[in-house]
Amino acid sequence: MAEKCYRSEIIGLFGYPVDENPTVVPMEAAFKALNLNYRYNTMLVYPQDLETAVKSLKALHMKGTHITIPHKVTVIPYLDELTETASLIGAVNTVYEKDGKMIGENTDGKGFIKSLADEQIHIKDQKAVILGAGGAARAIAVELALAGIKELVIVNRTLSRGQELTDLINSKTNAHASFVLWGDCYEIPEDTYILVNCTSIGLYPDTNIPNIDYESLNQNLIVCDVIPNPLYTNFMAKAEERGCKILDGFSMLINQAAISFKLWTNVDAPIEIMKAAMMKENEI
Ligand code: NDP
Repeated sequence: MAEKCYRSEIIGLFGYPVDENPTVVPMEAAFKALNLNYRYNTMLVYPQDLETAVKSLKALHMKGTHITIPHKVTVIPYLDELTETASLIGAVNTVYEKDGKMIGENTDGKGFIKSLADEQIHIKDQKAVILGAGGAARAIAVELALAGIKELVIVNRTLSRGQELTDLINSKTNAHASFVLWGDCYEIPEDTYILVNCTSIGLYPDTNIPNIDYESLNQNLIVCDVIPNPLYTNFMAKAEERGCKILDGFSMLINQAAISFKLWTNVDAPIEIMKAAMMKENEI
């Protein structure tokens, strides 16, 4: 008879504020569905306690943790190693244990790339326009560049952030990036293949849409939103009205969680179960 084990493998979510983050719902649903003796714990970690919290990962023999606001950049000095992409992006959303080391990874952009692949969207040698230059934009721009996109246009309201991301892409990847300072209404260049809203505009309860010329969206354009809530943003509605193919931020969210799940468990995530759990939680 197998020995009984009363200890569970523990995964965390370190953030502040964090109480309203629902990631525990799809994660626990996935562990249960696969009968894995894992627990996902949402943990309030103040900035001044981040170093102690990261050290506790090893002390408590945890398999890893998700990292969310405001720790995605500040966690880096406390980790043993970073993956190549996390290092390029300069931010970590997932920590996992490997051979006794705590490794920092960023699965946000990888989740986005998986969403594209699921829809048979091929971005090699294409041109993308990215609205925003914050954390989500950095992750997506880097992953698009590594996946073979040819040209990136970074459109951002704040010059320093937009220029920094543009310089990063040009110096560290094979893609060519240019920067547009976002002042007036931005017209999408006709040869754009994919447009991604990486700003926080439209995140519940905000109902605004990015200030672009919606008349410039043509029906060959693929329009993506990183906003996971609401599922169907006003930005996506405007793009659909113009005949564009649309992709939501909810799929990206589930896909990034599924990639992290595999890093922690070494098992493929039950994506449909995770999606269903999240949709039930949101009463979609
Ligand atoms: P950041 O704060 O790092 O960046 C926000 C970006 O939005 C900046 O570029 C900012 O411009 C821009 N922005 C905000 N408001 C406006 C405005 N009114 N007009 C023009 N630009 C604006 O946030 P993150 O990148 O971390 O997150 C962005 C969004 O992505 C969030 O809503 C988050 O929920 C979502 N997200 C979704 C994920 C998913 O899996 N679906 C994963 C990660 C994030 P500026 O630089 O000028 O301030």
